[in-house]
Amino acid sequence: MRYDVAVIGAGASGITAALFAAKNGARVTVFEKNAEPLKKLLRTGNGKCNLTNSSIDINEYVSSDIDFVKDKMFSFSNNDLIHFFKTLGLMTKDKNGYVYPLSEQATSVSAVLLKEASIYDIRIKLDSFVNLIDKKQDRFLISVEGDKKRYEFDKVILSTGSKAGLIKGEKENGSKLLNPFGLSFKPFVPGLCKLKLGGYDFETVKGVRNEAKVSLLINEKVVKEEFGEILFWEMGVSGICIFNLSNHCAGKYNNNDKMTVRIDLLPEYDDAGFEEFKEFALVSLLLNNEKSIRELLNGFMKDKLSDMILDLCNIKHDTPVSDITKAKLFEILDRIKNVTFNILDAAGFESAQACVGGLNTNELTNDLEIKAVPGLFVTGELIDVCGPCGGYNLQWAFTSGVIAGEKACC
Ligand SMILES: Cc1cc2nc3c(=O)[nH]c(=O)nc-3n(C[C@H](O)[C@H](O)[C@H](O)COP(=O)(O)OP(=O)(O)OC[C@H]3O[C@@H](n4cnc5c(N)ncnc54)[C@H](O)[C@@H]3O)c2cc1C
Repeated sequence: MRYDVAVIGAGASGITAALFAAKNGARVTVFEKNAEPLKKLLRTGNGKCNLTNSSIDINEYVSSDIDFVKDKMFSFSNNDLIHFFKTLGLMTKDKNGYVYPLSEQATSVSAVLLKEASIYDIRIKLDSFVNLIDKKQDRFLISVEGDKKRYEFDKVILSTGSKAGLIKGEKENGSKLLNPFGLSFKPFVPGLCKLKLGGYDFETVKGVRNEAKVSLLINEKVVKEEFGEILFWEMGVSGICIFNLSNHCAGKYNNNDKMTVRIDLLPEYDDAGFEEFKEFALVSLLLNNEKSIRELLNGFMKDKLSDMILDLCNIKHDTPVSDITKAKLFEILDRIKNVTFNILDAAGFESAQACVGGLNTNELTNDLEIKAVPGLFVTGELIDVCGPCGGYNLQWAFTSGVIAGEKACC
């Protein structure tokens, strides 16, 4: 029997699911609310599409069930994905684990996927916002906004993604489409996003970048550490390493947990190296007593950051170094190595690259079919799985698309 399969959402996971269902004999129709398919994929990796990672550590995913993620990744791994793209004629390159198309153009990835979709006669209905999925006996009925017709299918794959990266005014109803089936869904919270911090007027350091070691502390306990470039924005701090910390803050912004971010602005120095550095700074202080403390600090750090540190230490920027005691100097240096801010909130969904939360994994079979609704499958970010930066989320989108697509056709 040849099944009629509907895929809701022409994103990375939906197009992949459509391909694998069609390759295995299904007649596939994809409904996409936007006027073009794979719109988000074109924005990924700054337009270069970081499609996977060559050394994925599954434990870095945030999910209510890591074993569930492990199991799925085993079925279709990063190497399987690279091989799959090779068979479509897409070559890749590896930059410190981050895997991109060799062309460094996301359009190369979307082009091979859409070409394959056309080879397998997959129908992509654009400008089609699905607002209801209904099940009558063994058949699914799909309603599209502004369209009186009800579309009938044997199987449905729901691939509507999350609220992350939505453009202002763009509609999102993935979780609502699941509502009629009474499933448990962890509300979406922005992941891979900038953090809003308290305790300083960040407008003064907006746009400043610096290498840093950043640590997330929850109730004074370090739960995650990352190295990399940070970027201050008007309400706090951003950068890939901060994005990765933000995944671990999700769900904790409004409860009683105390969340802080600790920033080491001199990550080049380990503990022993830093003790030597302090002694060197002390010599510098003695040799340069005609300078201000700001001028002394500018010998080794960015002026706006040294101003921030002095403000946090309540020291005037133009204080002569002759007025700075050894103890005061060491206090300033310790602050540079260890500046801590309270985390107030995540930046909104629009600037997030992913969402933490989604459909509870225990609602799903191994094949990503909803246990309570046979014939209805779910993929991608709509499931409670969120990875760090570096190709983890597209890998999950592709992996889940392959699994659901292969099963939905039989
Ligand atoms: C700016 C940005 C950069 C990113 N960079 C990377 C990166 O380099 N590497 C990486 O691994 N991940 C990256 N991500 C994350 C990655 O893009 C997502 O995890 C991935 O696209 C999720 O795939 P998906 O299929 O679940 O959802 P999506 O790709 O979001 O696709 C969902 C599709 O469903 C459609 N849709 C939604 N609701 C309906 C409806 N009711 N009816 C019809 N259609 C509907 C949407 O329009 C969309 O096309 C980035 C995200 C953003 C926002």
